[in-house]
Amino acid sequence: MRVLDGVHQIKIPSPSGIAWDTNVYVLEGDDGHILVDSGWDSHEALWALQEGIKGAGLKLRDIRKLVITHIHPDHYGLSTKVKQICGSEVAIHSIDANLIFPRYEDFAGLLKKIEDVLRRNGAPEDDLPQLKEASLWMNKYVTTEVPEVKLEDGDTVSNGSFELEVLWTPGHSPGHICLFERSRKFILTGDHVLFDTTPHVSFNPHSGDNPLGDYVSSLQKVARLKVHFALPGHGPVFNALGLRVDQILQHHEERKRAIMKSLSSGLKTAYAVAADIPWNAAGRNAAFQDLAVWDRRMAVTETIAHLKLMTQEDRVANVDMDGASLYIAKD
Ligand SMILES: [Zn+2]
Ligand SMILES: [Zn+2]
Repeated sequence: MRVLDGVHQIKIPSPSGIAWDTNVYVLEGDDGHILVDSGWDSHEALWALQEGIKGAGLKLRDIRKLVITHIHPDHYGLSTKVKQICGSEVAIHSIDANLIFPRYEDFAGLLKKIEDVLRRNGAPEDDLPQLKEASLWMNKYVTTEVPEVKLEDGDTVSNGSFELEVLWTPGHSPGHICLFERSRKFILTGDHVLFDTTPHVSFNPHSGDNPLGDYVSSLQKVARLKVHFALPGHGPVFNALGLRVDQILQHHEERKRAIMKSLSSGLKTAYAVAADIPWNAAGRNAAFQDLAVWDRRMAVTETIAHLKLMTQEDRVANVDMDGASLYIAKD
């Protein structure tokens, strides 16, 4: 689907059980086309990409550059196959490039680190095994190869027609980037800003110590830009970027209020806080206990991210007791 002059959006399907598609974008150029993100590595995804490119009146072989907004499997997964087919160069931010081995190849090391994080943050022993393995199935949908181009904030990627400025926007992933077309006033936001969902920001073994703090700073960075269109990695294209940023910031403030309320009844681990505050699943309110395993793990790691930011903001304090990380309200 043509979304702007010379810019086509292709919807790449997800493995069964996941309700949303990934949006990838083809930017036509005199020096070959740029593809932004690739989708999961699956038969259906590759077919959808091929059909989408054909539908735009373009050819796979003319894709010269593939830029990946971040390391998650729904954006990076198919990149190695695209490279094999098109001979395109693949680019990703240097931080996410360095996470490819620890995230997708060193399973044993990753599982051990996730288990440590979950245990320290209060996950009970009977819930630990399923929580720690909740994301392993995704590895089936990724073919790993470290991209040859490592991007940094301020770099540009161009093809004669479009000039994309790399904006490092850590938070959703530590090496997440947005791509800003200054003269045409549009931005490709990856998973940094989505229109109809709040992007997931979690504390995990690779997130850095304050991922939500990083995310909020990255939101403020893009909110100031003069753009007419935001082209996200999921959901509809939208145009009130500053307004959407405000709504997302608002959501995090509400979440912090719920956490403070939970801490008013005593010292708690992040797991205990997550089990106590309201959640949302498929657009409906849901209790923590009723969430699917993967959603419960996201709830716990998101709660840790909030508590880390609130510690930085001096609203809560973090104390270690018998190997468990506990939080206490300071307000
Ligand atoms: Zn993502
Ligand atoms: Zn995504």
